[in-house]
Amino acid sequence: MKLEDWHTHNEQCHHATGTIEDYIKKAIYLKLSTIGISDHFPYEFLKKIDRIPFQEYAITLEEIEDYLSTTENLKEKYIDQIDVKIAFEIDFFENQEKALNEHLNKIKYRLDYILGSIHTLDFQDDRGSWGFDDRRFLDDYEFYGPDKVYLQYYLTEQKMLLSQEFDLDIIGHFDLPKKFNHKPSNREKVFNEVMKTLSLIKKRDLVMEINTAGLRKDAKEQYPSIEIIKEMYNLDIPIILGSDAHDPKEIANEFKKIIKDLKAIGYNQLASFNKRNRSFIEI
Ligand SMILES: [Zn+2]
Ligand SMILES: [Zn+2]
Repeated sequence: MKLEDWHTHNEQCHHATGTIEDYIKKAIYLKLSTIGISDHFPYEFLKKIDRIPFQEYAITLEEIEDYLSTTENLKEKYIDQIDVKIAFEIDFFENQEKALNEHLNKIKYRLDYILGSIHTLDFQDDRGSWGFDDRRFLDDYEFYGPDKVYLQYYLTEQKMLLSQEFDLDIIGHFDLPKKFNHKPSNREKVFNEVMKTLSLIKKRDLVMEINTAGLRKDAKEQYPSIEIIKEMYNLDIPIILGSDAHDPKEIANEFKKIIKDLKAIGYNQLASFNKRNRSFIEI
C-alpha cells in the first residue's frame, strides 16, 4: 500500500530543519503517495502569550503568503510524483477565535485541511499561557503536577470542540501531556475526560490523527495510546497518519508498525482530504 503522511513541519516555523521542498523530495524517495505540509499557524495576534516564545513556535503572519505560494508551486512542480497537500496546524486559544479567524478566513480556501492542536495551557492564574510540551516549561508542568495538567488539557480540548468558531478537520496528537512520560495518579478521572472528549469528536464528525512522534519522545508510544485508539474504533471515529516530522528524516516514521497495530484493532481505512473534503483509502 501507498503511505500518506499528513503532519509535517519545515524551517518556516523556526524550529524545524529542512525546506518544504526537502520534505517533498524525501517523501517521493520514500514512495509516499501524499505528503501534507502542515506548519504551525502564526501566534503573534493572540493575547496572554507573554511567556510563549512564539517567534520560535510558528511562522509569522507576514510569512503566510510565502508559505502558501511556495507550497502551491511545489505541488505543481511534483504533481506527477506525489500529491502535496497544503494545511496548517492551528492552536486553540479560548475566546480568541475571532482574532484567529480574521487572519485564517483570508486564506482558508487555499487549504486542504486544518489540524487542530493544543500545545499551551492557561490555568487562568498569573502564569498565563505556557507550553506544556516544551521542555523549557518543565518547572510549570511539575508545579501543577500531571493530574492537573492532563485534566486542564482535556478541558481545553473540549472547549475547542464545543467552539463553533474554531474550524478544524483533524485532532492532532490527542494525548500530548504524556510526552515527557508524566503519568496521572488518578487515571480513572483522566480517562473519564478522555471519553467525554472522544464523544465530542464523534459528535463533530472529526478525524483523529495517529501521530508517531510520541515514539521518538520519552513517552515511547504514539499519540494516542492503544487503549484510546480502541475506544475510538468502538466509536467509529476515522483516523489519519502523521509523523509530525520536524526533520525530513522523520517522515512516515514507524508507519508500517502503526498500520499493523491499527489493523489488529480493526481499522481498515484511513481518511484523506482534498480542499477540506474527506474521503477514505483502504489499508
Ligand atoms: Zn513544531
Ligand atoms: Zn503539534
